[in-house]
Amino acid sequence: MPAPVRKYHIFTFGCQMNKSDSERIAALLELTGLERAAKETDADVVIMNSCSVRQAAEDRIFGKLRNLGRARAKRPNLIVAVTGCLPGRDKDSAIRAKMPEADLFFPIKDLPQLPRWLAELDPEIATTGDVAGDYLRIRPNYSSKFQAFVPVQTGCQKFCTYCVVPYARGLEANRPAADILAEVADLAERGVIEVTLLGQAINTYKAPDRGSFSAQNPYQDDYAALLWEVNRIPGIRRVNFTGAHPMNMTDEVIDALALPKQINFLHLPIQAGSNEVLKRMNRRYTREQYLEIIRKVRARRPGIALGTDIIVGFCGETPEQFEETLSLYREADFDISYNAMYSTRSGTQAAKLYVDDVPKAEKKRRWNALQAVMEEIVLRKNQAYVGRTVEVLVDQKGDGWCGGNSSELKLVRFPSTADLRGQIVNVKIDKAMEWLLTGKLTNSEAVEQRSGETVKQ
Ligand code: SF4
Repeated sequence: MPAPVRKYHIFTFGCQMNKSDSERIAALLELTGLERAAKETDADVVIMNSCSVRQAAEDRIFGKLRNLGRARAKRPNLIVAVTGCLPGRDKDSAIRAKMPEADLFFPIKDLPQLPRWLAELDPEIATTGDVAGDYLRIRPNYSSKFQAFVPVQTGCQKFCTYCVVPYARGLEANRPAADILAEVADLAERGVIEVTLLGQAINTYKAPDRGSFSAQNPYQDDYAALLWEVNRIPGIRRVNFTGAHPMNMTDEVIDALALPKQINFLHLPIQAGSNEVLKRMNRRYTREQYLEIIRKVRARRPGIALGTDIIVGFCGETPEQFEETLSLYREADFDISYNAMYSTRSGTQAAKLYVDDVPKAEKKRRWNALQAVMEEIVLRKNQAYVGRTVEVLVDQKGDGWCGGNSSELKLVRFPSTADLRGQIVNVKIDKAMEWLLTGKLTNSEAVEQRSGETVKQ
């Protein structure tokens, strides 16, 4: 009798890059002959794709591992693997030592070796040998039929003092433009209409194969040139990217924000509003420079929605310096911010150089104050959408309603009995809340027309 097919389950923690990596892990496991488990408890192989950006994220992974350790009493053949950011930053094996439940512990760049390691642990898993080369060349099992993440680079060498990424993911490594463009073209052929390009400081992108860009490409800046090429690919109707670094918002990258398929949104992390704090964070720009960049962005693309990331309670941040973050937030008039309370990450420069001296209760107070300003501003900004018609890429279907994101990445819902997922529709907004706009469907033909525009050559 043939052995039962082995099943897998992946837990994904953290950012969009990890979500994208999990699509590649799933593809590789299926190439190796495993099937996706209907539920976690059916899995023979559990992969934890970990995040290390904050202590809370690591604590969740440890908690999950303890549960899996207990589950082994009933499933003795269970294989548990930990990958993602935690293994990459574990230079002294101290983290590994705290994970006796894990059979495998490897940085994501070693993913091509996973089939061989699994075959060593379970003879019923076929030995397929290592997959050659760069893990980003593994064709992912995309989780959506019409939206996809496409990594442009991995790692980072900005060395912001609080950040683990350069240690967890290594120094910046850029994918060849030809690979990125081939992946996007292939996605478009299979019906994907929206791509989100991913990188840690994506606008530092340097094409290892600049010759892959068309002769007509108007840009010298490699990231702007890449956006221009992606905008030209037939079938793609929306282009998004995350996350940009303010220092690399060149005039050409700002110009490329107005390419016809770019969504009407930019995520540009500021992190703090005080120049002293920015300096200690090694962010390499001042508050004034940041504000000048967004002034240029809005001049090039009026009405663009802006998102940011902010850390409150960084080492040595005084109450007055935090007030500068609040005033910066108002001045920048952001649409959204992902706010975090600082937590020390071992191995970073901040852990070596500074003391985490803002008490937890004070961090929480600052976080609440910032959230309150954010909600006040976003509500005001969202109210300006009432009466306007926005383009929505539908990706949710509920009982009598559909929903999705506008080009400004505002969540929009509207009544619909039809399942419109995968379509771009027009919705006239009649009500605005902080995190939701609601409205009624109007005809979608105008949208089809705009999204079908081609890049001028
Ligand atoms: Fe980390 Fe972003 Fe700074 Fe790179 S640019 S070190 S990923 S915070």
